[in-house]
Order: sequence, then C-alpha cells, then structure tokens
Amino acid sequence: MPDNTQMPYLNNPVTKYPKISPPPQDQPEPGLDATLDPKADHGEKTYQGSGRLAGRKALITGGDSGIGAAVAIAYAREGADVAIAYLPAEEEDARHVIAQIQATGQQAAGLPGDLLDPEYRDSLVDDAAEALGGLDILVNNAGKQVYAEKLEDLTDQQVSETFQVNIIAMFTLTRAALKYLPEGGSIINTTSIQAYQPSAHLVDYASTKAAINAFTKGLAEQLGPRGIRVNAVAPGPVWTPLQVSFGQPNERLPHFGHNVPLGRPGQPAELAAPYVFLASDEASYVLGETLNVNGGKPSP
Ligand code: NAD
Ligand code: MG
Repeated sequence: MPDNTQMPYLNNPVTKYPKISPPPQDQPEPGLDATLDPKADHGEKTYQGSGRLAGRKALITGGDSGIGAAVAIAYAREGADVAIAYLPAEEEDARHVIAQIQATGQQAAGLPGDLLDPEYRDSLVDDAAEALGGLDILVNNAGKQVYAEKLEDLTDQQVSETFQVNIIAMFTLTRAALKYLPEGGSIINTTSIQAYQPSAHLVDYASTKAAINAFTKGLAEQLGPRGIRVNAVAPGPVWTPLQVSFGQPNERLPHFGHNVPLGRPGQPAELAAPYVFLASDEASYVLGETLNVNGGKPSP
C-alpha cells in the first residue's frame, strides 16, 4: 500500500479523528456541548466554504449543538443566512454557534423554545422567515433520544414526547415552511441508522427514525413537481450531547462507535458536507434520498 505521509492533503478516514473512549457521564436532558467530555468537532477550525449556498436562508432545528451546530457553521461559511432553533436551556451552546455564523458576515438568528409546545411549533417558521427575510432551506434536525432497556420502562409520556419532537414537529414545521420555500428550495430531515438497525434499548426513537425516512420519500414525490426537493441524512454513531443525556446507557459510552468499519465514532463536522450538498443547487436531481453517513455500516 502506498504511504500517504507525503500527501498532506489526504486523510486516512480511520485516523482522521481519534478513536475516543468517553468516560461515563450523565448530563440532564438536553445535554450541552459546552460540558461534553471529550469535546466534539463542529468544523470551527476546518470547514472551508466555497459559496455553494450563497444568498440562501436556512432554518436549522437543534442548531445549537452536535450535528445541527456543524451544519449551521458550514451553511454560513457557504454564504447562507442561518436561523437556529434550540431549547432555552441550550443558550450557552447557541451563543457559540451564533458567534460562528456572525464571524462569516452572514445574518444569524437564535429562536429558543420547546418543540413540545404547540404555540412555539406553530410560530417558529414564521419567526425564522421574518428574521431572515425569507426561507429556502429547512433542516429538521432536533431530536429526542432517551434509552429504555425494557418496554415496561417506556412510559406513554416518553413515547409521546419522542414522537412529538421527532415526528409531529417535523410535520408542523415542514407544512409551515411551504408558505415560504420557493422553487429550488430544499427540505432536509435527520433520520438515523436506527431506522434500519434498531437498538434494543431505543425502540421508540428508532420507530420515529423509520417514519422520518418514509415521510421524506413520500413528501419528495409530492413536492418534486413543485420544484422543492426533500431528502434525509442518516447518521451513524456521532459524538454529540444527545448520547450523554440518557441517549445511551453510561456503560456503553467508552465503546461508542467502535463497532463500525472505521472503528471510531463520527464527529459532527463530518456530517456538514452531506447537508450542504443536499441543500445546494448541485443536488438538483437528488430527491427522496437518504444519505447514510455512518462509518461504513451496510444500509439500504
Ligand atoms: P444534539 O443533542 O446536539 O442535538 C439534538 C437537538 O435537538 C438539541 O440540541 C435540541 O436543541 C433539540 N431538541 C431536543 N428536544 C427538543 C425540544 N423538546 N424542543 C426543541 N428542541 C429540542 O444531538 P445530535 O446527535 O446532534 O442530534 C441531531 C439529530 O441527529 C437528531 O435528530 C438525532 O436523532 C440525529 N442522530 C444523531 C446520531 C448520533 O449518533 N449523535 C445518530 C443518528 C441520528
Ligand atoms: Mg443541544
């Protein structure tokens, strides 16, 4: 095999990021990137834009941390104005992302609220469009994941909240966005490898992710003729605060993401480019697609 040490432009994906073994840690829901151990990479030092979203206006739910934060930073560096939605408890993370957006010279808007609150769900898209002066990208990325080892431990309240955040909010926000999205606009949903390979302790969460795939494909057929593309990204194990705020049992954290062919978890920064691609004009013939970004696990 040729040695790539003389090729500084070429990264080995196995070693591009370390194979971390996070210590057990419990953050209250929602977790914060600010206190995540070890820290995650959102591309602050690395993502280079090239004008692929120049002039665009995006709303990203859960844009304060994890995957949503990496997407928000990348979108701004690609020339988009960006509104992020997040829970009020996540203000510290949101401030970091808003500063990153503003550093690019693009417009930033922070829209805190709880997607369990129907009033917030009903007004969020209007508020984002007002703040940015329009909207042509919606990224449905907020998600609730709380593990339960046994079905008997899974309360109706938790099932209802997981479905409200992951599914009902997606319907409400997407419907509201259709008032603003012009031809050429884009909707990107965040599903998961859990849609195809559900973990025994995440049955409510995995069910919502399978539903997101079906919603994405059906809505893409519906909106394609109107010139609006709907796609999804399906991450595998990615190091984010979701995992340490009861997303996984603590004893699983040291091995998190070790079972994929690359042997390590993904970093949020590695998710940004797929979301950029799907939103961009370069993806004009791509719709109803689920882009799997999972370290190499076979997926449909
Ligand atoms: P994250 O915790 O950084 O992001 C999730 C966000 O969801 C939070 O920041 C929060 O703002 C938002 N959210 C949760 N409940 C909310 C509520 N009631 N109201 C408003 N906002 C709420 O974690 P992440 O891993 O970056 O998650 C982003 C998306 O990626 C989620 O949809 C998640 O299911 C999906 N995903 C993550 C992984 C992974 O391994 N991290 C794998 C597959 C899919
Ligand atoms: Mg967060």
